[in-house]
Amino acid sequence: MEFNPADNIQDLQYFGEFGGVNPSISDSSTYTFIAAKSMMDTFEGNLEGCYLYSRHSSPSNLYLGQALAAMEGTEAANVSASGMGAISSVLLQLCSQGDHIVSSRTIYGGTYAFLKNFTPKFGIETSFIDITDLEKVEASITKNTKILYCESVSNPLLEIADIKALSKIAKAHNLALVVDNTFSPLQISPAVLGADVVIHSLTKFINGTSDTVGGVICGSNDFIDSLRNVNDGASMLLGPVMDSFRSASILKNLRTLHIRMKKHSENALYLAQRFEQDGYKIMYPGLKSHPQHELYKSLYNQEYGFGGLLTLDAGSLEKADDLMELMQERNLGYLAVSLGFYKTLFNAPGTATSSEIPVEEQKTMGLTDGLIRFSIGLDNDIERTYQDMKYCLESLGVATLVKI
Ligand code: PLP
Repeated sequence: MEFNPADNIQDLQYFGEFGGVNPSISDSSTYTFIAAKSMMDTFEGNLEGCYLYSRHSSPSNLYLGQALAAMEGTEAANVSASGMGAISSVLLQLCSQGDHIVSSRTIYGGTYAFLKNFTPKFGIETSFIDITDLEKVEASITKNTKILYCESVSNPLLEIADIKALSKIAKAHNLALVVDNTFSPLQISPAVLGADVVIHSLTKFINGTSDTVGGVICGSNDFIDSLRNVNDGASMLLGPVMDSFRSASILKNLRTLHIRMKKHSENALYLAQRFEQDGYKIMYPGLKSHPQHELYKSLYNQEYGFGGLLTLDAGSLEKADDLMELMQERNLGYLAVSLGFYKTLFNAPGTATSSEIPVEEQKTMGLTDGLIRFSIGLDNDIERTYQDMKYCLESLGVATLVKI
């Protein structure tokens, strides 16, 4: 049977303590033991099924983790308080002093800053490379390399990682392939394509209501257990734990992710096609002009489309700023970082979500000043949105600047 992430979520069955249709929320930080010996056994990892302390695990977090593991097709998952909590735990769990990471250079600015400025303090070095150049990827691997790191669809340039090919390279060199799938939940299933660990910022599409931050690590039972180990587990010891009330609310939102993702993708494709026809400089994986359109098609779960993110180059930072302010004034969306909301969100990543990346490096990777990243919302009438956005572009003269 073909792998379908949304069906896997749907197939789970939960009952609450009193037969409720939602699992009960575990409103406790600590748990009692009837026998003192069971507490000791649980600490030592020799007793399954007992809860110890909510930084280690809690029923609510395990429910959400189970649903996200089902979505990604992994054995297990561990939720965390934020996407960065998930990313930092994975990288520090897998690497020790003297180790090396090969990472895509087009990644979320926070991840870039963590690898560039923070992990070197612990003797962990990173080479940032063009992940679409497989020869370069292979050439950057050293005898100390432990991790190959990328985003399935990169933030903000929407480059596509060839996960199947990267997985072959990782296996040949005994590396862990770690993929951040935040931009493409349901559309791309990295673990099914060969990734060892899949990470999400739940803050974005998966939660979808922009009311919390959250993260998840999906992987093998052994890896997830190692993260929770009381002696040397990064999730347990660094402590980025999610609160039970939040995991319960994210689980409820997760159940409608498939409907939302289809609408985000449908709306983004519509706008991308219309604006490209009008001559604007648009980047969207669903357009034939996207350099990796065919690659994306070879990786995706078709029914969820090409995703909710697109970029438009307004030509200059000034134009980009004027355009974003005008669009917000006309209630076409919000000038805000983050993504996956019901409203369209937009920002100029060079000065916002990717500002941690030095300007010179932004230039080499093709991140221009005027680039606006859009997370397209769930607008009911996307033609109406198109007409209004077009009015904004034309009234600011953006068209004459970047017409191709
Ligand atoms: N990964 C990607 C691709 C992101 O865009 C972000 C945040 O913008 C993160 C990770 C970090 O997630 P969080 O803000 O939940 O820590």
